[in-house]
Amino acid sequence: VTLGDCFDHSVKRWPDNLALISRHQNICWSYRQLQQQVDRCAQALLAIGVNVGDRVGIWSPNNAEWCITQLATAKIGAILVTINPAYRLHEVEYALQQSQCSVLISADTFKDSDYSAMLNELLPELAYSALDSQRLPHLTTLISLSHTAMPGMLSWNGLLQLADRSSADALRARQQTLHCDQAINIQYTSGTTGFPKGATLSHRNILNNGYLVTEQQGFTEQDKLVIPVPLYHCFGMVMGNIGCISHGATMIYPSDAFDPSAVLQTVQDEKATALYGVPTMFIAVLAQPDFADYDLSSLRTGIMAGASCPVEVMKQVMEKMHMQQVQIAYGMTETSPVSTQTQADDPVEKRVSTVGRTHPHLESKIIDPNGALVARGQIGELCTKGYSVMLGYWNNDEATQQAIDSDGWMHTGDLACMDDDGYISIVGRSKDMVIRGGENIYPREIEEFLYTHPAVADVQVTGVPDKKYGEELLAWVILKTGEDINEHTLREFCKEQIAHYKIPRYFRFTDEFPMTVTGKIQKFKMREISVEELG
Ligand code: ATP
Ligand code: MG
Repeated sequence: VTLGDCFDHSVKRWPDNLALISRHQNICWSYRQLQQQVDRCAQALLAIGVNVGDRVGIWSPNNAEWCITQLATAKIGAILVTINPAYRLHEVEYALQQSQCSVLISADTFKDSDYSAMLNELLPELAYSALDSQRLPHLTTLISLSHTAMPGMLSWNGLLQLADRSSADALRARQQTLHCDQAINIQYTSGTTGFPKGATLSHRNILNNGYLVTEQQGFTEQDKLVIPVPLYHCFGMVMGNIGCISHGATMIYPSDAFDPSAVLQTVQDEKATALYGVPTMFIAVLAQPDFADYDLSSLRTGIMAGASCPVEVMKQVMEKMHMQQVQIAYGMTETSPVSTQTQADDPVEKRVSTVGRTHPHLESKIIDPNGALVARGQIGELCTKGYSVMLGYWNNDEATQQAIDSDGWMHTGDLACMDDDGYISIVGRSKDMVIRGGENIYPREIEEFLYTHPAVADVQVTGVPDKKYGEELLAWVILKTGEDINEHTLREFCKEQIAHYKIPRYFRFTDEFPMTVTGKIQKFKMREISVEELG
């Protein structure tokens, strides 16, 4: 079964169920209506000559066209290259070049990004209505999601009109030739630790994972999921879109860019049953000044994932957001993404402090630097094996071989431990571990602790180079509005409760952290900034 087959099957089963609500676009489509759009788009892509395995890039914030493109490319066997909407010229060029996209579907603007201006700079030949780029020789078609496409580009409506040139039979015939082990996506990783890598994923990878993630939340065709996470990332496109589609549930996009008040308004207006987000998003939603005015009683479940989920935030989400069944999932783009997930019937303690147990049909193991299994409860590198492991990094065999060993284990680069019952706790990325005077320090532990100070709204800890100890700890702290404490107060707070070597040497008060568009904090950037400031 391919993603296209799965979607068609859901349309057949639940034709009149609401499939997609895109609030900022005023769109509300049933499964049948969505299918009409998808098939039109798929036929149009056939008409412009997109072949099986051709790369089609999409560079856009969340909208209905994104979802249509995802399903249409799946139906014709093209590989969708999902480009981060926050990318700037240099990164877009890299992604297009690296994946050799022949078609690019692009938005016009997003926040302070002017995509059209960037495209004009990247492809100067657009000025004379041509697309014949030396830098991107594979790129033959540019499609604009705005109403008025620039010269040299096709508008979205212009594209859809081409559908008439290829028949529904041609689409069906193409769909029947496809196989679930073919590539469906190139998804670039978040870029939390450096330059993003393009993970090549198959229908089998993401379709199964999307289905199981929502199955574990008890999804049915009655569920309505609010998706504020970006679609370009597997959290949105797999856990969100595919998770809903495979159950006949409703996908709801509250806004194009993440907006906490739109999330609250959407949950209330649409009587949503589930909500996704990375921890920073839930923190922002909980901190909305008018939070208490919203009726969130329709919520039941949802997922917090993508970065470590502070216990305190989990508890607040359960208590204040009516999400008693909220779950934590762990995974990475390279594993489509989820490999562990807590469940509603796990003990509460496990549900707030671990990433749950290994997903069905997957295996986890934790190893030491020599590759040997560590004892239960000991920290080591987490490895994942099974159907969800990517086909490989696109056009980068060397990186693939470094990540996936000859036995098929994906080495995650995350440090974790597993208890006797199989619950896994993530202690942090191996890249983030700080070694101070020979002592291994896991920043997460100190973050969790500082987070319990009543004046602290959010906190991130990282290591900075130090002559004497090799590394020293540095904490970036965001205070709650109206709070005014200094580093002395925080240091005293630590002194009573954590070992001296774990007390950050430096505190830096700030309003924001350097962040990816997926809402993950880029510690390597924090380090760069701090190293410069500290001289
Ligand atoms: P890059 O690989 O480009 O540096 P990235 O690793 O953040 O970026 P993703 O594939 O989006 O890219 O994220 C996967 C990573 O996110 C995991 O390897 C892990 O470090 C972290 N992560 C995901 N879920 C959780 C979780 N529930 N708890 C702790 N960490 C998590
Ligand atoms: Mg990664």
